[in-house]
Amino acid sequence: MSLHEAGVNIDMRSIEHSSVEVPELHVKEEEAQTENLHSLLISKLCDGVREVLNLFASTHKIREPYTIRVTEAISCLRKSYLNYIYGVHIDNLYMCIGRYMHNVVLQILQAHLKDIAEVSIEPKTVIDLFPESDDVRYRMWRLIAEPDMVIKLRDGHIHVIELKFQIAKTSLEDVLPRYRQQVGTYVKMLNAHEGHILIFRPDVSIYHEVITREQAEEMYRRTLERARKLAKHIIRKKPPEPEQGIDCRTCPYREQCAQNIV
Ligand code: SF4
Repeated sequence: MSLHEAGVNIDMRSIEHSSVEVPELHVKEEEAQTENLHSLLISKLCDGVREVLNLFASTHKIREPYTIRVTEAISCLRKSYLNYIYGVHIDNLYMCIGRYMHNVVLQILQAHLKDIAEVSIEPKTVIDLFPESDDVRYRMWRLIAEPDMVIKLRDGHIHVIELKFQIAKTSLEDVLPRYRQQVGTYVKMLNAHEGHILIFRPDVSIYHEVITREQAEEMYRRTLERARKLAKHIIRKKPPEPEQGIDCRTCPYREQCAQNIV
């Protein structure tokens, strides 16, 4: 069963001045509910400054050893390698604001969906990266998926939902390939029916894109390959080659990386 058949409908429209097709999410086909969703979102955001600052003050976390997150495998591998070596998740204020907004929207979506589906927030799925290896140094490594939300409809179909917020100066075209890769990997790892990317845009519209199981196969294969490559670099203590792109803008290793002294 698709989300549409389950009562969550999606209308399509085009972004002005863009070739990207932009769908608009309407819950149960009622404009009023969408308006309500936006008002609730905005009022919650206005109350959230303190929570964002609290998140910013508590960003350093001890990471689990021998694990690679899907988001790390699809980012610049050199940056992910250095994050692993230094043992911290490095967050900036944008990420903290995004995390706060995630929490607000997840609560709203959960309230809307609870009558038609079982809802799980950030469920963790783990797979072994080198299950066939005889070498214990490789066998311990795992890939971790933690999608924002997973819903199970009454027919048993599982849908993955990933929320994104376009708050930095990025275009959809810049970020969509990575988001597709992330959600496609989750779809495969969770054996889901389909995945949904929801991007909350600065003009308060919502971009929605569906990733099918068929699309997910190749995305998963690529992520797995990159995660294995990253694990091998960490085991051998050899930094991967730089992968210049959207990560560089906020990368804390820019100076080191430019001088190749990582
Ligand atoms: S500066 Fe860019 S290429 Fe270098 S590690 Fe950071 S993200 Fe990767």
